[in-house]
Amino acid sequence: MNETDRIIELRKLLKQYSYEYYTLDKPTIPDSEYDMLFRELEDLEAKHPEMDDPNSPTKRVGFEILSEFKKITHERPMLSLGDVFSYDELRDWSKKITDIYGKIEYCAEYKIDGLAMSLLYENGLFQQAVTRGDGITGEDVTSNVRTIQSIPMSIPYRQRYEIRGEVYMPKASFNRVNRERIANGEEEFANPRNAAAGSIRQLDSRICASRGLDGFWYHVPDDVNSDTHYGSLQYAKKLGFVVNPTTSLFNDIEDVINFIEETAKLRHDLPYEIDGMVIKVNSYALQRELGFTSRIPKWAIAYKFPAEEVRTKVEDIFITVGRTGKCTPNAKLTPVKVAGTTVGFATLHNEDNIKDKDIRINDTVIVRKAGDIIPEVVRSIKENRDGSQIRYVFPDKCPVCGGKLYRFEDEAAHYCVNTECRARLVYSIAHFTERNAMNIDGLGEKRVEAFLNAGLLNSFEDIYQLSERRDEILSMEKFGSKSFDNLIEAIENSKKNSLERLINGLGIRQVGEKAAKVLAAHFQNMEAFMNASVEQLSEIKDIGPVTAEYIRDFFMEESNREMITKLRFYGVNMNYIDTSISNDSVFAGKTVVLTGTLEKYSRNEATALLENLGAKVSGSVSKKTDYVIYGTEAGSKLDKARELGVTTLDESEFEKLL
Ligand code: NAD
Repeated sequence: MNETDRIIELRKLLKQYSYEYYTLDKPTIPDSEYDMLFRELEDLEAKHPEMDDPNSPTKRVGFEILSEFKKITHERPMLSLGDVFSYDELRDWSKKITDIYGKIEYCAEYKIDGLAMSLLYENGLFQQAVTRGDGITGEDVTSNVRTIQSIPMSIPYRQRYEIRGEVYMPKASFNRVNRERIANGEEEFANPRNAAAGSIRQLDSRICASRGLDGFWYHVPDDVNSDTHYGSLQYAKKLGFVVNPTTSLFNDIEDVINFIEETAKLRHDLPYEIDGMVIKVNSYALQRELGFTSRIPKWAIAYKFPAEEVRTKVEDIFITVGRTGKCTPNAKLTPVKVAGTTVGFATLHNEDNIKDKDIRINDTVIVRKAGDIIPEVVRSIKENRDGSQIRYVFPDKCPVCGGKLYRFEDEAAHYCVNTECRARLVYSIAHFTERNAMNIDGLGEKRVEAFLNAGLLNSFEDIYQLSERRDEILSMEKFGSKSFDNLIEAIENSKKNSLERLINGLGIRQVGEKAAKVLAAHFQNMEAFMNASVEQLSEIKDIGPVTAEYIRDFFMEESNREMITKLRFYGVNMNYIDTSISNDSVFAGKTVVLTGTLEKYSRNEATALLENLGAKVSGSVSKKTDYVIYGTEAGSKLDKARELGVTTLDESEFEKLL
């Protein structure tokens, strides 16, 4: 296809997408793809001035209005924004201005992902709210905008006053509205922007009122009470408008870039969506000098964050079995780049989610990866179906062990309840060894699987016998004696962990790191925890009745109690070690030697206790030893301590000092 044909094709495509996006509030492609096509058209049009067309999407704002609302012509056009996708492009934009005007002041703001709105006040009273529409004409949505609580209905300014900004749907409202839509069998909104736009165009204001919309106000077209953009926003704030509190002034574009960087890190924690930042020239006088094109002001630019939603294909759907036996369906995707990384798989959460979103094998889908969150399939694009799509039937058997899958009442997930299931075993042992559980470095998921295949591991207890399997382990691929020694050392060290690590490692449902800490601190030792009743457990703050039941069920299982007995036998510490007191302890910074048999503590437990209090536990007595703690059948170490005049403590004296 030659370039002029491509221009015609792109114009047609972009018009179709804009119609779906602006008029139907139902986009069929991600914004990133639209932006790419838009850029391509801009570039081709620049190369072919003979193809100039004032109706081209690159010359127009939004889309022609087709709704039933009264049309209102804006006193001044409501424009879109030029956009950049990299810091270098942003620097270029700023340089073009500073090359002519020298140093300037920038105002940087969040780019709120909603829809633009103009509010008009006469004699201090709210008169009218109009959407941006096609930039020249908008829709009169006054009665709907009246329902937004944070918009003042009267202001202490008596002259005609126009303010523009963004009406948006907070994330919490978006999630609630979509839940309600699913429950009513309606299609979900694609994103908060489309949800806000769809809500503001409801003919019944009560529906709009129920949607929980809000607004931020960021532009006063007349220089009321200030000769700068920022100054006019401060005045708007005084009049009662909500101006985003993060809006800031900068003198250097590099500082603007730092602000963007900081914002990118926290954007996912904001209660509303932003899709970029808007950088504006602060001085009204300079804004006037710079002027507009038919579509955008030249005194502002939008920096868009890297795309977090992209389009790809579901090649297959498969199940993974987690350590609790939970079966999660996943989509195998045609790999795509999302937010800077290549994504080949995405979670589908559970059976209901697949059904509600009607996601089928071979479907074209939108995949989202926000922040560190696992990529997920947001929706399928039904318009792209070609007959090859296959509905997914959730299996009734575990794909790993073939055991029956169960779906418990009130739960969305399916579970494989076979405790011997290999998948569960690999994950549960890998969880046991995790950093925030028993912290056994060198025994991650891959190695656990290899050990399982080699018959070296079948349970948590087996970990503590790996030292006996040296020859077998060393004969394995990629296993040298150094890694073996390191592994055994990590295993030995894990025996000294405080109780909460062990509790976390057990993988009891709903007992994660935080709950494990609460439980260990409460019960102090494994014996008391294991034997606690549901009532005793439920009384603990942060432990709900369901978690209490799960704990009880876990210890009702005889094999689990046996596992604890074996772990104790192998020397794993079963006591809680309160590290919060370590700095005040008499043992902090002291060298301590243990000798003989203590009644209440194994050697490992006593060592763990002392080390966590900041002591160094040594194997031999010297003049540098601070304390020798002795039990029954203490031998030569005790004699030597007495000879050297080192303080000796029997078990009760030791406990007193604890
Ligand atoms: P835009 O959203 O890229 O930027 C302009 C708009 O940003 C303004 O009109 C205003 O509403 C908003 N904005 C938010 N915070 C602001 C602030 N602090 N100051 C100033 N303005 C602020 O442009 P647009 O014309 O509204 O929409 C074009 C974009 O819409 C495209 O880039 C694309 O991402 C998306 N789109 C997608 C499809 C699709 O099919 N997926 C179709 C059409 C358009």
